[in-house]
Amino acid sequence: MATAIPCGNAVVTWYRPRFMSSSNTKNFRIPQARVSTEIGALAFSSSSLFPQNMVNSWSPKTPCHRLARRLIVKAARDYYSILGVSKNASKSDIKSAYRKLARNYHPDVNKEAGAEQKFKEISEAYEVLLDDEKRSIYDRYGKDGLKGSTMGMGDFTNPFDLFSSLFDMDIGNRGARNMAAEGEDLIYNLVLTFKEAVFGVEKEIDVSRLDNCPTCDGSGAKPGTKAYTCTTCGGKGQVVSSSRTPLGVFQQVRSCSACSGTGETFTPCNKCGGDGRVRKSKKISLKVPAGVDSGSRLRVRSEGNAGKRGGAPGDLFVVIDVIPDPVLKRDDTNILYTCKISYVDAILGTTVKVPTVDGSADLKIPAGVQPGTTLVMAKKGVPLLNKGKLRGDQLVKVQVEIPRELSDEERKLVEELANLKKTKTFNGRR
Ligand SMILES: [Zn+2]
Ligand SMILES: [Zn+2]
Repeated sequence: MATAIPCGNAVVTWYRPRFMSSSNTKNFRIPQARVSTEIGALAFSSSSLFPQNMVNSWSPKTPCHRLARRLIVKAARDYYSILGVSKNASKSDIKSAYRKLARNYHPDVNKEAGAEQKFKEISEAYEVLLDDEKRSIYDRYGKDGLKGSTMGMGDFTNPFDLFSSLFDMDIGNRGARNMAAEGEDLIYNLVLTFKEAVFGVEKEIDVSRLDNCPTCDGSGAKPGTKAYTCTTCGGKGQVVSSSRTPLGVFQQVRSCSACSGTGETFTPCNKCGGDGRVRKSKKISLKVPAGVDSGSRLRVRSEGNAGKRGGAPGDLFVVIDVIPDPVLKRDDTNILYTCKISYVDAILGTTVKVPTVDGSADLKIPAGVQPGTTLVMAKKGVPLLNKGKLRGDQLVKVQVEIPRELSDEERKLVEELANLKKTKTFNGRR
């Protein structure tokens, strides 16, 4: 695996992130669903490809001899102390020491000055100590012995290839068999009445979701049968394909589709068809907090689909939809209402009954109120989400109605009023 790549070739390695979780999907019964509230955009757990920094590419433009020269690193300390292992360390000690250090000092991860140099030192030490022949020469003659031998210093594998080869090994052997997969998040649409949204409500909802299969206990294998090595990938859990491009030969490592990267295939369980999960409906009691609105999302942890092979379950997102009220309109935490009063009431002032979310309430309209004035009924609005007792206001817009028709008596009185006004104006001018 750790062979030098000829100049002009590139190795691109990627794989999907693995979700290993210790949480046991069988034991997540919770009496009252814990709810956290999120308004607006939601961050779904991403299952995108691994970040760019795991992609190790070898620029075909860099001439071979330059690379070779760059790889000659002069390590000041001896190889054992570089890796922090004893003189009689086993191969697995050396491997795990290298793996730990290389991860910390990989220049894609560690941007500190000298990290790359350190990374190369580590790689050099690892390569020598892992090879029995090189190690024995090194033990007897030190670094000079290696220089004089047929395996000179220039023979070192590109440290980045060494690194990625080890990661391949991880996937192929240990990681692959336990490819735990997180369960998917679910969305449930919940319709609330206007008042339920304002004051909050407790609801029991029926959620259809994938649960661990009781027949195979989530393994997906038919009970009594044994898993066997996948023939497509030979148990590695991944397949390598090469493609020739103008930039060189690209090797692509992919998760094996025949075994989903587990390296094993099995006789599928009759009940779940090998998925390890079956669809079930579950009643979940949900506490909707006061102040939610259309578009609010409540997150109920671990109530989404069950994970696969011990992966963590997904979350349930409850999306709120509110039925509008015919008279009360909502503007965030305020309630908007328009009241109509007669022109006489506007002139003389009055008290009117106004509907609010708390029921009907008296609103005093001052004499001389102007059309379009907004009166504030303090703390008659919507409770602020997760803010205890704080509430918005009800804003009442006053609409003054001018009669289109008047009775004879009314006309007479208004005319009298008009005459009074004219006389006053006349007298005032004189
Ligand atoms: Zn099953
Ligand atoms: Zn396979």
